Amino acid sequence: MGFAKEEKEEIIERFNDDEFDGYLEELIESGDFESDMHEGITRKVFEQGYESLSPRQQNVFLYGVIAPNFSKCKRCETWLWEEMSFIVETGYCTYCNQMNRDD
Ligand SMILES: [Zn+2]
Repeated sequence: MGFAKEEKEEIIERFNDDEFDGYLEELIESGDFESDMHEGITRKVFEQGYESLSPRQQNVFLYGVIAPNFSKCKRCETWLWEEMSFIVETGYCTYCNQMNRDD
């Protein structure tokens, strides 16, 4: 799984969002990592930030940790860190999920 170039840049920029910490916390609590290395890298981002990673670790973080836990809403293409687990699970943001229910 990969990201388009602009998408990758937007994601990296939004690592600065306040909500990103909550997203990381959720990932760490779920303990659902491909390997201990993936978990260690995620903890390092949570504690010291993405910029503290080596370029190799940044790639592991983007493609091994974020990509499997990242999805855009199928209806409005929105993505929010605070709704990410919901969007990954249902395919829609909470707003569109509500709209679907009302249809
Ligand atoms: Zn939506």
